[in-house]
Amino acid sequence: MSSLTRRTFLSGPALGALALHADPAAAAAPAAGRETPGIYRYKIGTFELTALYDGIWYRPITDTFIRNAPYAEIEHALADAFMPAGKLATPFTTLIVNTGKKLVLLDTGTGGQIASSAGVLRDNLAAAGIDPRAVDLIVISHFHPDHINGIKDKDNGLVFPNAEIMVPAAEWAFWMDDANMNAADSPLKLTFRNQRRVFADLAKQVVRFEPEAEVAPGILTLPAPGHTPGHTVFAVQSGDQSLMVLSDTAQHPAVFARHPDWQAAFDIDGDAAVATRKRLFDRAAADRMLVTGYHFPFPACGHLIKTASGYEHVPVEWQPTL
Ligand SMILES: [Zn+2]
Repeated sequence: MSSLTRRTFLSGPALGALALHADPAAAAAPAAGRETPGIYRYKIGTFELTALYDGIWYRPITDTFIRNAPYAEIEHALADAFMPAGKLATPFTTLIVNTGKKLVLLDTGTGGQIASSAGVLRDNLAAAGIDPRAVDLIVISHFHPDHINGIKDKDNGLVFPNAEIMVPAAEWAFWMDDANMNAADSPLKLTFRNQRRVFADLAKQVVRFEPEAEVAPGILTLPAPGHTPGHTVFAVQSGDQSLMVLSDTAQHPAVFARHPDWQAAFDIDGDAAVATRKRLFDRAAADRMLVTGYHFPFPACGHLIKTASGYEHVPVEWQPTL
Protein backbone atom coordinates (compact mmCIF):
# COMPACT_ATOMS: atom_id res chain seq x y z
CA MET A 1 0.00 0.00 0.00
CA SER A 2 1.37 3.40 -0.92
CA SER A 3 2.09 5.86 1.85
CA LEU A 4 -0.69 8.23 2.77
CA THR A 5 0.45 11.80 2.15
CA ARG A 6 -1.45 14.92 3.05
CA ARG A 7 -2.24 15.40 -0.65
CA THR A 8 -3.69 11.91 -1.18
CA PHE A 9 -5.57 12.12 2.14
CA LEU A 10 -7.25 15.42 1.31
CA SER A 11 -7.85 15.10 -2.40
CA GLY A 12 -7.03 11.58 -3.45
CA PRO A 13 -9.30 9.01 -5.04
CA ALA A 14 -10.50 7.75 -1.67
CA LEU A 15 -12.15 11.06 -0.82
CA GLY A 16 -13.60 11.31 -4.32
CA ALA A 17 -15.22 7.90 -3.87
CA LEU A 18 -16.66 9.03 -0.54
CA ALA A 19 -18.14 12.13 -2.13
CA LEU A 20 -19.83 10.02 -4.81
CA HIS A 21 -21.55 7.95 -2.15
CA ALA A 22 -22.46 10.85 0.14
CA ASP A 23 -26.14 10.87 1.03
CA PRO A 24 -27.50 14.44 1.17
CA ALA A 25 -30.37 13.34 3.44
CA ALA A 26 -27.93 12.06 6.12
CA ALA A 27 -26.11 15.39 6.18
CA ALA A 28 -29.31 17.15 7.29
CA ALA A 29 -29.43 15.39 10.71
CA PRO A 30 -29.08 18.07 13.38
CA ALA A 31 -25.94 17.95 15.50
CA ALA A 32 -26.60 16.85 19.10
CA GLY A 33 -24.57 19.76 20.43
CA ARG A 34 -23.77 18.15 23.75
CA GLU A 35 -21.65 15.34 25.15
CA THR A 36 -23.00 11.91 26.07
CA PRO A 37 -22.99 10.82 29.74
CA GLY A 38 -19.60 9.83 31.20
CA ILE A 39 -20.41 6.51 32.86
CA TYR A 40 -18.59 3.19 32.71
CA ARG A 41 -19.75 0.11 34.52
CA TYR A 42 -17.71 -2.99 35.33
CA LYS A 43 -17.64 -5.83 37.80
CA ILE A 44 -15.17 -7.01 40.41
CA GLY A 45 -16.46 -10.39 41.55
CA THR A 46 -20.08 -9.81 42.53
CA PHE A 47 -19.53 -6.05 43.09
CA GLU A 48 -20.88 -3.71 40.46
CA LEU A 49 -18.70 -0.63 39.95
CA THR A 50 -19.68 2.57 38.21
CA ALA A 51 -16.99 5.01 37.11
CA LEU A 52 -18.53 8.47 37.00
CA TYR A 53 -16.84 11.27 35.11
CA ASP A 54 -16.82 14.68 36.77
CA GLY A 55 -15.03 16.49 33.93
CA ILE A 56 -11.56 17.84 33.29
CA TRP A 57 -9.43 20.79 34.25
CA TYR A 58 -6.55 21.98 32.11
CA ARG A 59 -4.40 23.09 34.99
CA PRO A 60 -2.09 25.99 34.09
CA ILE A 61 1.46 25.19 35.16
CA THR A 62 4.68 27.15 35.36
CA ASP A 63 8.36 26.35 35.88
CA THR A 64 7.72 25.82 39.60
CA PHE A 65 5.23 22.99 39.03
CA ILE A 66 7.77 20.14 39.12
CA ARG A 67 10.36 20.65 41.83
CA ASN A 68 13.03 18.33 40.52
CA ALA A 69 13.07 18.57 36.71
CA PRO A 70 13.86 21.41 34.27
CA TYR A 71 10.80 23.08 32.79
CA ALA A 72 11.93 22.19 29.25
CA GLU A 73 11.48 18.51 30.15
CA ILE A 74 7.99 19.18 31.49
CA GLU A 75 7.09 21.02 28.27
CA HIS A 76 8.34 18.03 26.28
CA ALA A 77 6.29 15.62 28.39
CA LEU A 78 3.13 17.67 27.88
CA ALA A 79 3.77 17.81 24.13
CA ASP A 80 4.47 14.05 24.03
CA ALA A 81 1.09 13.52 25.72
CA PHE A 82 -0.68 15.88 23.27
CA MET A 83 -1.58 18.30 26.05
CA PRO A 84 -1.77 22.05 25.41
CA ALA A 85 1.41 24.00 26.11
CA GLY A 86 1.66 24.99 29.76
CA LYS A 87 -1.42 23.05 30.83
CA LEU A 88 -1.69 19.69 32.56
CA ALA A 89 -4.78 17.71 31.60
CA THR A 90 -6.43 16.81 34.90
CA PRO A 91 -9.53 14.64 34.46
CA PHE A 92 -11.63 13.63 37.47
CA THR A 93 -13.31 10.23 37.83
CA THR A 94 -15.10 9.10 40.96
CA LEU A 95 -16.12 5.53 41.62
CA ILE A 96 -19.29 3.99 43.02
CA VAL A 97 -18.98 0.47 44.41
CA ASN A 98 -22.21 -1.44 44.89
CA THR A 99 -21.23 -4.30 47.18
CA GLY A 100 -24.74 -5.73 47.11
CA LYS A 101 -25.32 -4.42 50.62
CA LYS A 102 -23.92 -0.92 50.45
CA LEU A 103 -23.54 1.79 47.87
CA VAL A 104 -20.09 3.27 48.47
CA LEU A 105 -18.71 6.40 46.79
CA LEU A 106 -14.93 6.77 46.68
CA ASP A 107 -14.15 10.52 46.54
CA THR A 108 -16.73 13.07 45.52
CA GLY A 109 -15.49 15.18 42.61
CA THR A 110 -15.08 18.91 42.31
CA GLY A 111 -18.62 19.96 43.19
CA GLY A 112 -18.39 22.30 40.18
CA GLN A 113 -16.15 24.53 42.27
CA ILE A 114 -12.78 24.08 40.55
CA ALA A 115 -13.15 24.52 36.79
CA SER A 116 -16.05 25.34 34.51
CA SER A 117 -15.21 22.21 32.51
CA ALA A 118 -15.75 19.98 35.58
CA GLY A 119 -18.69 19.39 37.88
CA VAL A 120 -20.86 17.02 35.85
CA LEU A 121 -20.81 14.23 38.44
CA ARG A 122 -24.43 14.79 39.45
CA ASP A 123 -25.59 14.69 35.84
CA ASN A 124 -23.72 11.44 35.35
CA LEU A 125 -25.13 9.99 38.58
CA ALA A 126 -28.60 10.72 37.21
CA ALA A 127 -27.71 9.21 33.85
CA ALA A 128 -26.45 6.11 35.70
CA GLY A 129 -29.78 5.85 37.54
CA ILE A 130 -28.16 6.46 40.94
CA ASP A 131 -30.06 8.62 43.41
CA PRO A 132 -27.56 10.58 45.60
CA ARG A 133 -29.86 9.79 48.57
CA ALA A 134 -29.14 6.08 48.03
CA VAL A 135 -25.40 6.45 48.66
CA ASP A 136 -24.70 4.84 52.06
CA LEU A 137 -21.05 5.68 52.51
CA ILE A 138 -18.52 8.19 51.18
CA VAL A 139 -14.86 7.28 51.64
CA ILE A 140 -12.32 10.04 51.03
CA SER A 141 -8.76 9.34 49.83
CA HIS A 142 -7.35 12.72 50.87
CA PHE A 143 -8.41 16.29 51.51
CA HIS A 144 -7.54 18.11 48.28
CA PRO A 145 -10.53 20.10 47.03
CA ASP A 146 -11.10 18.02 43.88
CA HIS A 147 -11.81 15.01 46.15
CA ILE A 148 -13.92 16.57 48.91
CA ASN A 149 -15.76 19.51 47.36
CA GLY A 150 -18.47 17.24 45.95
CA ILE A 151 -19.60 16.43 49.51
CA LYS A 152 -21.48 19.73 49.48
CA ASP A 153 -23.15 21.94 46.92
CA LYS A 154 -22.31 25.62 46.57
CA ASP A 155 -24.95 26.49 49.22
CA ASN A 156 -23.33 24.21 51.81
CA GLY A 157 -26.03 21.53 51.45
CA LEU A 158 -25.10 17.86 51.57
CA VAL A 159 -25.19 16.31 48.09
CA PHE A 160 -25.42 12.78 49.56
CA PRO A 161 -27.61 13.46 52.62
CA ASN A 162 -27.82 9.87 53.87
CA ALA A 163 -24.17 8.94 53.47
CA GLU A 164 -21.82 8.28 56.34
CA ILE A 165 -18.48 10.02 55.63
CA MET A 166 -15.19 8.26 56.37
CA VAL A 167 -11.80 9.98 56.06
CA PRO A 168 -8.21 8.97 56.77
CA ALA A 169 -7.34 9.77 60.40
CA ALA A 170 -3.86 11.00 59.40
CA GLU A 171 -5.41 13.33 56.83
CA TRP A 172 -7.77 14.82 59.39
CA ALA A 173 -4.94 15.20 61.93
CA PHE A 174 -2.71 17.09 59.48
CA TRP A 175 -5.17 19.39 57.75
CA MET A 176 -7.45 20.24 60.68
CA ASP A 177 -4.47 21.31 62.80
CA ASP A 178 -4.51 25.11 63.01
CA ALA A 179 -0.75 25.24 63.68
CA ASN A 180 -0.16 23.52 60.32
CA MET A 181 -2.53 25.99 58.64
CA ASN A 182 -0.79 28.98 60.17
CA ALA A 183 2.62 27.68 59.06
CA ALA A 184 1.49 27.13 55.44
CA ASP A 185 2.19 29.52 52.57
CA SER A 186 -0.77 31.45 51.26
CA PRO A 187 -1.80 29.16 48.35
CA LEU A 188 -1.78 26.17 50.72
CA LYS A 189 -3.73 28.18 53.31
CA LEU A 190 -6.61 28.24 50.81
CA THR A 191 -6.61 24.45 50.86
CA PHE A 192 -6.77 24.45 54.67
CA ARG A 193 -9.63 26.98 54.62
CA ASN A 194 -11.55 24.95 52.06
CA GLN A 195 -11.31 21.88 54.29
CA ARG A 196 -12.77 23.85 57.17
CA ARG A 197 -15.59 25.06 54.89
CA VAL A 198 -16.42 21.46 53.94
CA PHE A 199 -15.87 19.71 57.26
CA ALA A 200 -16.34 22.25 60.08
CA ASP A 201 -20.04 21.56 60.64
CA LEU A 202 -19.62 17.83 59.90
CA ALA A 203 -16.83 17.19 62.40
CA LYS A 204 -19.03 15.18 64.77
CA GLN A 205 -20.35 12.86 62.10
CA VAL A 206 -17.16 12.28 60.09
CA VAL A 207 -15.60 8.91 60.94
CA ARG A 208 -11.81 8.79 60.86
CA PHE A 209 -10.31 5.47 59.81
CA GLU A 210 -6.86 4.13 60.58
CA PRO A 211 -4.58 2.56 57.91
CA GLU A 212 -5.65 -0.88 56.68
CA ALA A 213 -9.20 -0.44 57.91
CA GLU A 214 -11.93 -2.34 56.10
CA VAL A 215 -14.36 0.55 55.57
CA ALA A 216 -16.95 -1.78 54.06
CA PRO A 217 -16.82 -5.53 53.43
CA GLY A 218 -14.43 -5.94 50.48
CA ILE A 219 -13.04 -2.38 50.58
CA LEU A 220 -9.69 -2.10 52.32
CA THR A 221 -7.81 1.17 52.86
CA LEU A 222 -4.04 1.24 52.39
CA PRO A 223 -1.80 4.14 53.43
CA ALA A 224 -0.04 5.83 50.50
CA PRO A 225 1.58 8.93 52.03
CA GLY A 226 3.50 11.64 50.21
CA HIS A 227 1.00 13.43 47.99
CA THR A 228 -0.57 14.31 51.35
CA PRO A 229 0.27 12.86 54.80
CA GLY A 230 -2.84 10.68 54.98
CA HIS A 231 -3.23 9.97 51.26
CA THR A 232 -4.97 6.60 50.94
CA VAL A 233 -5.51 4.03 48.21
CA PHE A 234 -8.16 1.32 48.25
CA ALA A 235 -8.18 -2.38 47.48
CA VAL A 236 -11.59 -3.53 46.28
CA GLN A 237 -11.95 -7.29 46.48
CA SER A 238 -14.81 -9.64 45.68
CA GLY A 239 -14.50 -13.34 44.91
CA ASP A 240 -11.19 -13.91 43.17
CA GLN A 241 -11.10 -10.47 41.56
CA SER A 242 -9.63 -7.23 42.82
CA LEU A 243 -9.05 -3.62 41.84
CA MET A 244 -6.47 -1.18 43.19
CA VAL A 245 -7.88 2.33 43.45
CA LEU A 246 -4.72 4.43 43.19
CA SER A 247 -6.30 7.79 44.08
CA ASP A 248 -3.58 10.45 43.43
CA THR A 249 -0.56 8.14 43.60
CA ALA A 250 0.10 9.65 40.19
CA GLN A 251 -1.83 12.33 38.38
CA HIS A 252 -2.19 12.00 34.59
CA PRO A 253 -0.26 8.83 33.74
CA ALA A 254 0.98 10.18 30.41
CA VAL A 255 3.06 12.59 32.50
CA PHE A 256 3.56 11.02 35.95
CA ALA A 257 3.67 7.30 35.14
CA ARG A 258 6.16 8.03 32.38
CA HIS A 259 8.15 10.21 34.79
CA PRO A 260 7.64 8.54 38.17
CA ASP A 261 10.46 10.52 39.81
CA TRP A 262 8.80 13.86 39.28
CA GLN A 263 7.72 15.68 42.41
CA ALA A 264 4.85 18.05 41.84
CA ALA A 265 4.43 21.26 43.81
CA PHE A 266 1.21 19.92 45.35
CA ASP A 267 2.95 16.89 46.87
CA ILE A 268 3.37 17.68 50.58
CA ASP A 269 6.34 15.29 50.81
CA GLY A 270 7.80 14.82 47.34
CA ASP A 271 10.28 12.07 48.27
CA ALA A 272 7.56 10.03 49.97
CA ALA A 273 5.17 10.59 47.04
CA VAL A 274 7.73 9.18 44.61
CA ALA A 275 8.54 6.20 46.88
CA THR A 276 4.83 5.42 47.29
CA ARG A 277 4.22 5.74 43.54
CA LYS A 278 7.04 3.35 42.66
CA ARG A 279 6.09 0.84 45.37
CA LEU A 280 2.45 0.66 44.24
CA PHE A 281 3.15 0.84 40.51
CA ASP A 282 5.82 -1.87 40.75
CA ARG A 283 3.34 -4.11 42.53
CA ALA A 284 0.53 -3.35 40.09
CA ALA A 285 2.80 -4.02 37.11
CA ALA A 286 4.32 -7.22 38.55
CA ASP A 287 0.96 -8.66 39.60
CA ARG A 288 -0.81 -7.42 36.45
CA MET A 289 -3.45 -5.80 38.65
CA LEU A 290 -6.44 -3.91 37.39
CA VAL A 291 -6.02 -0.35 38.62
CA THR A 292 -7.92 2.90 38.48
CA GLY A 293 -6.57 6.40 39.10
CA TYR A 294 -8.62 9.46 39.98
CA HIS A 295 -6.82 11.55 37.33
CA PHE A 296 -6.42 8.84 34.69
CA PRO A 297 -8.29 9.38 31.39
CA PHE A 298 -11.90 8.21 31.61
CA PRO A 299 -13.00 5.50 32.37
CA ALA A 300 -9.76 5.67 34.35
CA CYS A 301 -9.18 1.94 34.77
CA GLY A 302 -6.64 -0.28 33.09
CA HIS A 303 -3.24 -1.77 33.76
CA LEU A 304 0.28 -0.50 34.30
CA ILE A 305 3.32 -1.93 32.58
CA LYS A 306 6.88 -1.21 33.52
CA THR A 307 9.05 0.39 30.84
CA ALA A 308 12.76 1.19 30.69
CA SER A 309 12.23 4.63 32.22
CA GLY A 310 8.93 4.43 34.08
CA TYR A 311 5.47 2.99 33.51
CA GLU A 312 2.81 3.10 30.85
CA HIS A 313 -0.93 2.99 31.43
CA VAL A 314 -2.88 0.59 29.21
CA PRO A 315 -6.60 1.46 29.33
CA VAL A 316 -9.25 -1.24 29.61
CA GLU A 317 -11.19 -2.23 26.54
CA TRP A 318 -14.73 -0.91 26.81
CA GLN A 319 -17.00 -3.89 27.51
CA PRO A 320 -20.52 -3.61 26.13
CA THR A 321 -21.83 -6.15 28.66
CA LEU A 322 -21.10 -6.68 32.33
ZN1 LIG B 1 -6.65 14.97 42.96
